Amino acid sequence: TYLVTGLEPALRSMVHTVANVGLHLGVLLIRLADHVDVPPAPAGGKAKAIHAELELQDVTFAYGPYSPPVVDRLSLSIAEGEHLSVMGPSGAGKSTLAALLAGLDRPDCGEVRIGGRRVSELDPTWLRRAVVLVPQESYVFTGTVRENLAYLRAESAPEDRELDGVIALFGLGELVGRLGGRDAVIERPGALSEGERQLLVLARVYLSTASVVILDEATCHLDPVAEARAEQAFVARPGTLVVVAHRISSVLRAPRVLVVESGTVTEGSHQELRQQSALYADLIGMNAE
Ligand code: ADP
Ligand code: MG
Repeated sequence: TYLVTGLEPALRSMVHTVANVGLHLGVLLIRLADHVDVPPAPAGGKAKAIHAELELQDVTFAYGPYSPPVVDRLSLSIAEGEHLSVMGPSGAGKSTLAALLAGLDRPDCGEVRIGGRRVSELDPTWLRRAVVLVPQESYVFTGTVRENLAYLRAESAPEDRELDGVIALFGLGELVGRLGGRDAVIERPGALSEGERQLLVLARVYLSTASVVILDEATCHLDPVAEARAEQAFVARPGTLVVVAHRISSVLRAPRVLVVESGTVTEGSHQELRQQSALYADLIGMNAE
């Protein structure tokens, strides 16, 4: 008896430890599940990609005949499935570059090719489905949450399970609940916060058919946690991803970084740029959080 009682506290503490570890593991797994539960890529939703590599060849672009070029004889190629980040001071030409890559602006000189074909030769409907540029301002319309989220899904409407997965992925569960569920009408989109609208638009783009997603400071109204969650979702989503960075953390997530400065682009990895570009070092320094 003595032996058993003597052992008991030790045993109990062992049981406790095991239970605690189990508890922690459980929490950890739940935490992991929160982040890793990426719903399957939209089945058949992607634009049937002819190869969606992007290419700028000697591109020059100015906003008017008397304005200096914003992009000056730039050549650049982005492979299908690549993830890169663009940074630079305001007015440097990042949004202009994004619009050129998306085929929304046409160059004055040089060529923009998507999937090896000149943008001007591509079917505009195909182009709109294949390449999505997400600006800073988010467009949410009066309609149901479902309609808003499925808006860029050309052929197959997402099923409930996929919709719910994406709502969870972008941390929209609470908002959608508050609105009254996925089939509730968003009566006053203007009454949502800018961050909430931004999340809805990001979830819509995630669900879209696009093989190329260009986020132009499209997470600027999100807090750092929501921003990281959204960006990680896009990094895991198959396809090409270009992020015009709003925070240094975005740049650190990308294997390839473009630094835009008065019409020219310097590129490399974070490490390379830190050593080679004084502007980059400055931007990083100023941005350090
Ligand atoms: P960034 O996104 O890096 O802040 P932009 O590409 O928006 O830079 O702008 C680059 C330059 O082009 C800036 O000097 C800006 O004033 C000018 N610009 C941008 N859009 C227009 C426009 N629609 N008309 C005339 N000038 C523009
Ligand atoms: Mg811009």
